[in-house]
Amino acid sequence: MNPILLNPGPVTLSARVRAAMSRPDLCHREVEFAALQDGLREKLLKVYDLAADEWASILLTGSGTAAVEAMVTSCVPDKGRLLVIENGVYGERMSRIAGAYGIATERVSFAWDAAMDLGAIENALDAGAGGITHVAAVQHETTTGRLNDIEILAALCKRAEVRLLLDGVSSFGAEAIDFDGWPIDACAATANKCLHGVPGTAFVIVRRAALGEAITPRSVYLDLHEYLLRQDAQGTPFTQSIQTFYALDEALDEFFEAGGWRSRQALFTDRLASIRATLLELGVKPLLDDVDCSCVLHAFELPEGRTYEALHRIMKSHGFIIYAGQGALSKRVFRIAAMGDIGASDLERLHEALTIALNA
Ligand SMILES: *Cc1c(COP(=O)(O)O)cnc(C)c1O
Repeated sequence: MNPILLNPGPVTLSARVRAAMSRPDLCHREVEFAALQDGLREKLLKVYDLAADEWASILLTGSGTAAVEAMVTSCVPDKGRLLVIENGVYGERMSRIAGAYGIATERVSFAWDAAMDLGAIENALDAGAGGITHVAAVQHETTTGRLNDIEILAALCKRAEVRLLLDGVSSFGAEAIDFDGWPIDACAATANKCLHGVPGTAFVIVRRAALGEAITPRSVYLDLHEYLLRQDAQGTPFTQSIQTFYALDEALDEFFEAGGWRSRQALFTDRLASIRATLLELGVKPLLDDVDCSCVLHAFELPEGRTYEALHRIMKSHGFIIYAGQGALSKRVFRIAAMGDIGASDLERLHEALTIALNA
């Protein structure tokens, strides 16, 4: 039987999305490809009802990190200065990316299980004394399941007149993102998390005005300005992953038919609420308070005397793939994500499997 993936992407595919991958073979220089790409770019803007004259979606072949790396390297001007907010693996990864490309960068770091301290961020913005031009932040820090408060961060950025680069890889399609109210220049995301596509296609939603000749390309493959010009002309600079385009196209149709991001948020919220309740009954404590968590993934403390490996093994034998903690949290927590095509009967079986595994 097909396993149910409870890791934060890739997700359990619907039959529709899986079948879409066997649509006809296609060359990326044919008109059918142009139509597929145009359609996808439109549908991605529609997820948050964005106007096409102000915003563009840019499709890349790669995992979510390709989109994040393209965003960080393409959106900070030559003389710009980036402030990265870190409270987990993915914030820290953006600092590593900026460092690898020699982008002038400052960091504000918090413990992985801590919320952003807005005072510290304000200080960093002030100390930069007009030097900081862009802030990079992760909306849903998948390391812990924390939903960072971007609403408040956005207000600080507005006041300091700096632009926001958002890692929305594990939130796009399921959490509120206020593209017009927040000073967002770009948001990186991927096909294979909340949108329920397959890994291989990632994308960046950019404010068109944020890209241009004023930024010297730092990368050949990940230069968003080049992609924008070519995709607006119905082409692509490089070969795209056609089969994952097909899958994303079908996944987006399914997404809109089901009611869009608010419905997906409600669906994931319900799933995690019931998983959380079952685990609480079994004596398993969540790492973070409910109000601090995303609707996409929650982290739970491993009970005394239990290892992740043993829990994972039993859950896998029942057909469920749970996910380990990262770094120092690997001995302390396990994680469960709520994305993907999971039916009511799968959820029932999940509760039974958790009960068996945690009573074993
Ligand atoms: C999954 C994820 C990424 C990208 O990871 P890939 O393995 O490259 O897909 C980036 N940021 C966040 C917050 C993520 O959850």
